[in-house]
Amino acid sequence: MKVSKRAQSVPVSATIAVTSRAKQLKAQGVDVVGFGAGEPDFDTPDYIKQAAIEALKGGKTKYTPAAGITELRTAIAAKLKNENGLNYTPEQIIVNIGGKHSVYESMQAVLDVGDEVILPTPYWVTYPEAIKLAGATPKIVQTNKANSYKITPKQLKDAITKKTAMLVINSPSNPGGFTYTPQELKDIAKTLEGTDVVVLSDEIYEKLIYGDTKFVSFASLSEDAYNRTLTLNGFSKTFSMTGWRLGYTAGPLEVIKAMARLQDHMTSNSVTFTQYAAIAALGEPAKQAIEKMRVEFEKRGKYMAERLNSIPGVQCPEPTGAFYCFPDVSEHYGRNINGAEINGSMDFAKALLEQANVAVVPGLPFGCDGNIRLSFACSLDDISKGLDRLQKWLSQ
Ligand code: PMP
Repeated sequence: MKVSKRAQSVPVSATIAVTSRAKQLKAQGVDVVGFGAGEPDFDTPDYIKQAAIEALKGGKTKYTPAAGITELRTAIAAKLKNENGLNYTPEQIIVNIGGKHSVYESMQAVLDVGDEVILPTPYWVTYPEAIKLAGATPKIVQTNKANSYKITPKQLKDAITKKTAMLVINSPSNPGGFTYTPQELKDIAKTLEGTDVVVLSDEIYEKLIYGDTKFVSFASLSEDAYNRTLTLNGFSKTFSMTGWRLGYTAGPLEVIKAMARLQDHMTSNSVTFTQYAAIAALGEPAKQAIEKMRVEFEKRGKYMAERLNSIPGVQCPEPTGAFYCFPDVSEHYGRNINGAEINGSMDFAKALLEQANVAVVPGLPFGCDGNIRLSFACSLDDISKGLDRLQKWLSQ
């Protein structure tokens, strides 16, 4: 059957080769240590599940308005005000079917054919595809180790052209594990003043920050920042609700209304009883569960970075957010390890999996071929075992 050029242009995820090979090896009984997880290894807090059950029993099983039930949009508005210092009315908020849907729909609502979107490396793999599906072009800005992989105001200024319609900021970052400081974000906001650039601020990892890291919402920095920003967030990471598919976007009314029109014809509302569970998630009891998870991630991230940095030829900034370490392993490129030529992150990940049974994600699909991504959404025992193997493998 005919397949559209649009669909053909979307590549199979470059990370899939390693993850499906890891699954295959596991199925064969091989003891693979997996550092590929993109979701917390904790269960959804029980009271959130209970709220969904109650909603189902209470007959919350029919359509809702496409943009979400008013009670949830009101609860999100209160969260954004109390926790992020942002004044959005419920009408300025749309509930989407996961943060991924928020990204896709925001871009569909804002971008036109020929627009450019500034995308600093390392970027989450979905952004470039969502940009291209909206007819726009990603303008990749290569960051570097010296700046902790963050775009500088100078780089941003140099990248802006007449065609620039959007800048994507993801802090805390997947895959980088870094968080922009409030001052760094202020400098970015200042650089954008006088332009028409929309900022898509993906804040989905906001609660997972470590050490003395401070999180600020981009839109809270100034009136100018507020007016140009779409604030994106969701329930997947903070509440361990990846399978529930709930995200949201807040921003100027005209864009949120445009997203609601698109959503009306594409998907309609996100699942009705999960919207009720989301109201419960935003209540007080979640705070304890989130803090418990955060403390555990902090311990693991610190340990993982320490171990990685103790391996010759591996450099890893200590993660300040999310649940990823993103070490530079490029000093090992050009080597031959047990017959495998290591000429980039794809070779590195493949050989590490085949020879030492450790699954990591290559940095290439995130725009940084010098790096690999290791998730610490797994036990300390697994981290210790996997890094022992990595260390031994590289020391050959
Ligand atoms: N943004 C970032 C940076 C992510 O890493 C993810 C999940 N991998 C999402 C958005 C979307 O998450 P979800 O669709 O599960 O809400």
